Amino acid sequence: MQIIRSVSEMQALAAALHAQGQIIGLVPTMGALHEGHLTLIRLAAERADAIVVSIFVNPTQFAPSEDFNKYPRELEADVARCEAAGADYVFAPPNEEIYPKGYSTYITEEHVAKPLEGVSRPTHFRGVTTVVAKLFNICRPDLAVFGQKDAQQVAVIRKMVIDLHFSVDVIVAPTLREADGLAMSSRNRYLTATQRVEALAISRALFKARDMVAAGERRADRLVAEATHILSQQRRIRVIYVALVSRTTMEPAREAITGESVLTIAVWMDDVRLIDNLVL
Ligand code: AMP
Repeated sequence: MQIIRSVSEMQALAAALHAQGQIIGLVPTMGALHEGHLTLIRLAAERADAIVVSIFVNPTQFAPSEDFNKYPRELEADVARCEAAGADYVFAPPNEEIYPKGYSTYITEEHVAKPLEGVSRPTHFRGVTTVVAKLFNICRPDLAVFGQKDAQQVAVIRKMVIDLHFSVDVIVAPTLREADGLAMSSRNRYLTATQRVEALAISRALFKARDMVAAGERRADRLVAEATHILSQQRRIRVIYVALVSRTTMEPAREAITGESVLTIAVWMDDVRLIDNLVL
């Protein structure tokens, strides 16, 4: 497996792979890879010939108050994980390659990115769309795999791909969970043992809503109320939002529509921000 650091080298490689008729699959990540990331890599490997995993902690998607500086960085271990999962290339550029001095161009999706995460993290998706568009232009993927764990990110990227005519097939991988239900996340390592136990309320709330839907409940207000109730029983949790929305537009839904509606949750667990969702 090859590690690529420069934009020009990655672009040249992508051109060479395309010239050989290879299908390029991209898995964008910020590193600190866990089993959830690895399922994305495996999914890409099923569908593409050349698998590129990008590892870049993207500064523009963090607000100044957020955890950019303390975000875990462990490139060597990540490279080994990528190789074991079937990646062919790791693209791990230094910051200056992506944002050289004087950099000034950004991409904003102005609708899907607005609610939910967009309210409490107003510049987050601008950073995400900008870096993903750059990764598409650098790695020239035919397909790119993203996780349902970040439901709004998926919706925003799909919209950007449509609006900007990227010829990239966006593939969404299901959320991988720990055995007890907690969605895997690079940020879980910030949690203390007590916080981790309380964090289980998030998946419990989602699973309860799923059970309610299975039992015939469709009304968003009732599903949201029950999920909020479960979360609010935990001392350390502060709810940022609980919402039933359309998985494509992120607009509020009044009723759960099978396969279309997503119940999405963001909380503060003390000072750790956690998100999770379930397609109902
Ligand atoms: P990140 O490194 O957090 O930016 O995540 C990189 C990709 O992995 C994103 O597309 C995430 O949605 C996806 N991802 C993160 N956690 C999970 C998980 N538990 N299951 C599946 N995909 C995930």
